[in-house]
Amino acid sequence: MFQINENYLKLPGSYLFSTIGKKVKEYSEAHPDKELIRLGIGDVTLPLAPAVIEAMHKAVDEMGRAETFRGYSPELGYEFLRRAIVEHDYQKRGADITIDEIFISDGAKSDSGNMGDIFGLNNRVAVCDPVYPVYIDSNAMSGRTGDYVESLGRWSNVIYMPCTAETNFAPELPKEEPDIIYLCYPNNPTGSTITKDELQSWVDYALKVGAVIIYDAAYEAYISEDNVPHTIYECKGAKGCAIELRSFSKNAGFTGTRLGFAVVPMDLKCKGVSLNSLWARRHGTKFNGVPYIIQRAGEAVYTEEGQTQTKAQVAYYMNNAKVIYDGLKEAGYTVSGGVNAPYIWLKTPDKMSSWEFFDYLLDKANVVGTPGSGFGPSGEGYFRLTSFGSYENTVRAMERIRAL
Ligand code: PLP
Repeated sequence: MFQINENYLKLPGSYLFSTIGKKVKEYSEAHPDKELIRLGIGDVTLPLAPAVIEAMHKAVDEMGRAETFRGYSPELGYEFLRRAIVEHDYQKRGADITIDEIFISDGAKSDSGNMGDIFGLNNRVAVCDPVYPVYIDSNAMSGRTGDYVESLGRWSNVIYMPCTAETNFAPELPKEEPDIIYLCYPNNPTGSTITKDELQSWVDYALKVGAVIIYDAAYEAYISEDNVPHTIYECKGAKGCAIELRSFSKNAGFTGTRLGFAVVPMDLKCKGVSLNSLWARRHGTKFNGVPYIIQRAGEAVYTEEGQTQTKAQVAYYMNNAKVIYDGLKEAGYTVSGGVNAPYIWLKTPDKMSSWEFFDYLLDKANVVGTPGSGFGPSGEGYFRLTSFGSYENTVRAMERIRAL
């Protein structure tokens, strides 16, 4: 008889957003007359920028002619895209990253979920709490997290770094020494961020204890303040201890188009073994590349037109973030985030639990958000709203919440 990977049985029931989807579906079926406003899932709503569409059309035509047809993409991705990434995302920021260190992928979810493949099973994993669930669930699937303790809502073998109002939503250096540290800035779900000096202290710490940082910068495009680093490689020594993950989902609306990349520096080694070569081996074995059409679309994001158009999209969402932030403040909520991130993190009123507030908001305002406890035990008592809706819906949602 075959055996299954029993680690899957230790996972809590379902992925957070599936649970929300199910609840919302049930509510809609029971109340077909109610018009819901969805500020829950972090999916974008604006269409792709004209420069991106134009590049895709051109690439589609190329695929239809024998002379310009492309089959499998090079394993690490096309050089035209990796070169554009290096120039715009790294060299312009003074970070010395080369194209051999860039691995094109179908997004930061795959990269953050798969990166564990190149690490041993006995590594101690540290995560912020609350956290993007993929980091923990993917480690749990490979058996790195111990058992899930239902009553505590946490894994026995994971080092949780609480990020609450008491810590200003920032993690403190952990007391137990981790081997792998996941950091995500600007942060999902709290919308908080980190200064360059603060990030430097994480890099120094990782170098001191021999840990690797997996730095998820999927929301880099939302940074608006000057002292916030755009890449971890702005910090001294980061190439010796950090992998960075990026996505085209939130800066250019590629959530359905799928494109991202991982940076695995050549200097990053464990007992002389290069992580870059391990990831190249993994990538080449289990992934057959992002379509040519999509990589050309990604290249177009870096053109002058593409930059102007995608920056306007980010500005549109950040205007929504301000509407939510100000609206909630006016309504008397305790709010954070929304300045360098598209997420607004609020304290639930009247000591309601996160799920109680979810039900309350769904029922009384017909607004869908995300319960903070779904992101980890320290998210209990908090709630996340996203600025990815339309401006009109965002304004209406705030009117409904203010009227409660
Ligand atoms: N990382 C974080 C922190 C996210 O919030 C998300 C998506 O919401 C992702 C990664 C996934 O990005 P992608 O669409 O590139 O897979």
